[in-house]
Amino acid sequence: MTKQEKRIRNYAELFRVKPGAKVTLADDFDPGFTADAVRKKDAQPTLRRGVALLADYQARLAAQDTYGVLVCIQALDAGGKDGTIRHVMSGVNPQGVKVHSFKVPSAEELNHDFLWRYAQRLPARGEIGIFNRSYYEEVLVVRVHTENLDRQKLPPESKRGDVWERRYREINDWERYLTDNGIRVVKLFLNLSKEEQRTRFLKRLDLSEKNWKFSEHDVKERERWDDYQAAFSQMLSHTSTGWAPWYVIPADHKWFARLAAAVVIANTLIEIDPQYPQVSGDVLDRLVAARADLVAQAPKGVEADPFEAKMARERVRAKRKEDAKAAEKVAAGINHEGDSG
Ligand code: AMP
Ligand code: MG
Repeated sequence: MTKQEKRIRNYAELFRVKPGAKVTLADDFDPGFTADAVRKKDAQPTLRRGVALLADYQARLAAQDTYGVLVCIQALDAGGKDGTIRHVMSGVNPQGVKVHSFKVPSAEELNHDFLWRYAQRLPARGEIGIFNRSYYEEVLVVRVHTENLDRQKLPPESKRGDVWERRYREINDWERYLTDNGIRVVKLFLNLSKEEQRTRFLKRLDLSEKNWKFSEHDVKERERWDDYQAAFSQMLSHTSTGWAPWYVIPADHKWFARLAAAVVIANTLIEIDPQYPQVSGDVLDRLVAARADLVAQAPKGVEADPFEAKMARERVRAKRKEDAKAAEKVAAGINHEGDSG
């Protein structure tokens, strides 16, 4: 594990909800948190490095074709889900990532069990799937507005007892099943403060190019702030598990939220540690033979293997550069001694 990977692991740890911990959002997590060690000025290059790391891991994930990664993103309105996805995934191959948004369920979707529509959109092996809202809405908006549950056409016995406790268990079991099958689940909750939400709604009203984002419905939902906080707290308390942990991302500072989200997703990939498939045995013999054949086809006066020759030239150039740098350093040292002496 490299130094960068260790740092990523330690950072991700900061945001993880310990399995079994009883969470009260307001007491346990500060939406305005920015780790001391990170300053806004440093965040951009760090995020760029994180994005590059993600791209490299995603390429290996796809080549290995064994594990898939499901990233669930939840937040209140104006929490920054869209921007986070855009920034964090900006460097990865679009072929390897699929984003799905979940809205109010359709009549067809309501005609199925509550996890059905999410199961249709799961990532395949080698893919990263991002759920912009997820099956967790089934214990969030559906819990806060129980008329949604009435629309789900459940049989009477399924509405008896504690529906939410049962859903937590069913979700945990489902995620366990997915993990056992090689689909890793990582869950991000973008934790926004009520005041920052107010500011962001106002921004949508004040800037004409943001007007389209404003929804009166969002302002109505804001009236249920406390109910949502309670539902999120319950969700975090019951569904952060060893196999599919929740990460609470402080979301009041967008630059920090993006960095933290990148760290958590990168950490998941580091844990999976996907490898490029190694070629060996018969296949390797055939590669060697194919190479010899292509080398033999080199026209007169042309390098036998132009690619190998190019690599060799680059190695020489890099070595020269390194030597020159070392010589400069030595020279600077000598000059310096001259100054002080
Ligand atoms: P947006 O993501 O802002 O486009 O809005 C999507 C809307 O769909 C939100 O108001 C969600 O609360 C709502 N929604 C998402 N999933 C569900 C669900 N399972 N049941 C009811 N409403 C949902
Ligand atoms: Mg909305």
